[in-house]
Amino acid sequence: MKKESLKAELRQLNFPKDSIIFITINTGAIGYFRKNKSETYNDLLEILISILDLKKGGIIFAAYTKGSFLLKPTRTFSKRSKSYAGNFINYLIKHKAIYRSQHPFESYIGLGKRAEEVLKSHDSESGPYTIFNSFIEKNNSYYLMIGTWNDGKNAPPSLHHCQEILGLTRKFTFKYFEKIYHQEMKRIFLRKQSGGCSKGGKKLAIELLEKKIAQQFKFGNANSIIIDPTASFIYTLEKLKKDEKAYVCEDSNCLSCRGNYYNNPLRFVQIILHKLRQKIFR
Ligand SMILES: [Zn+2]
Repeated sequence: MKKESLKAELRQLNFPKDSIIFITINTGAIGYFRKNKSETYNDLLEILISILDLKKGGIIFAAYTKGSFLLKPTRTFSKRSKSYAGNFINYLIKHKAIYRSQHPFESYIGLGKRAEEVLKSHDSESGPYTIFNSFIEKNNSYYLMIGTWNDGKNAPPSLHHCQEILGLTRKFTFKYFEKIYHQEMKRIFLRKQSGGCSKGGKKLAIELLEKKIAQQFKFGNANSIIIDPTASFIYTLEKLKKDEKAYVCEDSNCLSCRGNYYNNPLRFVQIILHKLRQKIFR
């Protein structure tokens, strides 16, 4: 697979040079490999930004970090601290041109003028997903899910964004159980909100495709989609207003979905007892 052919695949999507693009990506699904990981990642970054003028547009990725349980030693969030979003994101975090937003748990990284503008406004006081407001009713804004929309792990951005707007991200089981030390601000933050599980997001992605709010494309071997931020926001908000559990995952033991303490306290207690029993009688 050639670098130029991947660039050509992106060019076919006709992004204006000043676009702002939020990307979730599974680099392994693309099938593009160089001698080592850093060469591969360096090329992939070059390919992704080749469609833009970084003096005008920008790209953004999620670089979320895990805190630690209250009774355990405190983890630290800093500009360079590792994300659980995978090797490519951690490669980008170390990249000198990358800008990172300052939310202690849900930080985002990006490159380019428009990305920096968006990331600057996202700090420790922001909701975890408010950043996506900057994609709604804006010129030339897009979401890309490269090899991630049907992996059963990732959700279209509108899912957690709309959950946040409807107050659902405040109803999560382990509220105030997770802490992180913010190096720059020199203080500890507790987690107040979470989008929780994204496994039900595939269902939303399929609906967005059916409604023609999303379109499929190939990026190397990665089955990918491009999503209209405004239309997906309107669609997802309506769905969640009617049924806030519309996109819970299939796992009956999931503590952020069917076993969420706020939605179903009885199921929550059952799951915890089950886990304890397994621990004790193992
Ligand atoms: Zn779940």
